[in-house]
Amino acid sequence: MQLSKRITHLTGGGSDGWDVFYRARAMIAAGEEVTELTIGEHDIRTHASILNAMHGAAAGGHTGYAMVPGTDTLRRTVAQRMTERTGVPTGPENVLITPGGQSALFAAHHAVCDEGDTALYIDPYYATYPGTIRGVGAFPKAVITRPEDAFKPQRSALDQVATGARSLLINTPNNPTGVVYDLETLETISEACKAHDLWLISDEVYDTQVWDGSHISPRGLPDMADRTLVVGSMSKSHAMTGSRCGWLVGPAQAIDHLITLATHTTYGVPGYIQDAAVFAMEQGSALEAEIAAPFRRRRDLAQSILAAQNTIGLIPSQGAMYLMLDIRATGLSGEDFANALLDRHRIAVMPGESFGRAAAGHIRVAMTIDDQAFAAALETLCAFASAAAKKTA
Ligand code: PMP
Repeated sequence: MQLSKRITHLTGGGSDGWDVFYRARAMIAAGEEVTELTIGEHDIRTHASILNAMHGAAAGGHTGYAMVPGTDTLRRTVAQRMTERTGVPTGPENVLITPGGQSALFAAHHAVCDEGDTALYIDPYYATYPGTIRGVGAFPKAVITRPEDAFKPQRSALDQVATGARSLLINTPNNPTGVVYDLETLETISEACKAHDLWLISDEVYDTQVWDGSHISPRGLPDMADRTLVVGSMSKSHAMTGSRCGWLVGPAQAIDHLITLATHTTYGVPGYIQDAAVFAMEQGSALEAEIAAPFRRRRDLAQSILAAQNTIGLIPSQGAMYLMLDIRATGLSGEDFANALLDRHRIAVMPGESFGRAAAGHIRVAMTIDDQAFAAALETLCAFASAAAKKTA
């Protein structure tokens, strides 16, 4: 039987540089020891106090269908958090609770794109972005950025592709680059959105992981709240990736329609998970800082290791759990570098090419293993790069 084009064409086809990742996973499955610096998942598990709250809520009976838009308490908690962080008065009517940020990304595009519309995203990008856009029947179009600009979008690149588009998807702090957009960049983006009448979909799932500068949500910029949908999540801020709890914040009218979408797709998020999310957020920023601390420490370690060599360039590492390394001086592509590093040293990193064409000649390193092993792997990686560069010279 024939399947829909929408589902069979969800990904663009081709390997797109994911071969290295699958090869590393196959080696691990075959019993080989591989140092994995690939995936954006904490090396700690969800805090015991959050699990206790979850268990308490479930044991207390919150196991039936929960309210589809989210529980009143969680919607209020998220709204208050948004108000505090953006200065834009936000109420529960502006919040839809979703099964993770990924589901919110899908819902956001569903809300603003019709079949065949163009939806913009910034290249390099988080792996699911183009497929999410295709999933709602829209056409993904990349805004190309340059390493020289720390992969921050420039007005000329936005103008080049924005005519006729419906939306622009951005992500700060950024996966895969680790860059945090400054006010100037966000102002450029918001000006472009107004000039081209675009919805802005702002993926802020790493908003608690900022090492330099501070996180700014474009929802708080002048006249942006009416055209911005913010994607948030408990996954990264509270090490709750498996709990699948996120949200979308936006204009009440959009959220109203999105509640109807949720009724016909997810039917909400389990009540005991939402209660645990409320508990987690009530612990305040101290718990968030505790969860972010290992990545900050490893970022500092990486900066000192990289300062002692001159083959690899570090894209300003300002937030999120990744480093983006410029390995062009080795003469290798990101994919060749990652394959050779895996073969010779059993260290797995992601080729920049996995995240789009703008990050060719780069690799992404996830800072998701313990400090000592992380530092040792990075030292080996640097020595490997330096030897490769000498060979090309
Ligand atoms: N956006 C970005 C940039 C991500 O890196 C991730 C997860 N890796 C997500 C969204 C989705 O996260 P979740 O669905 O777990 O909230």
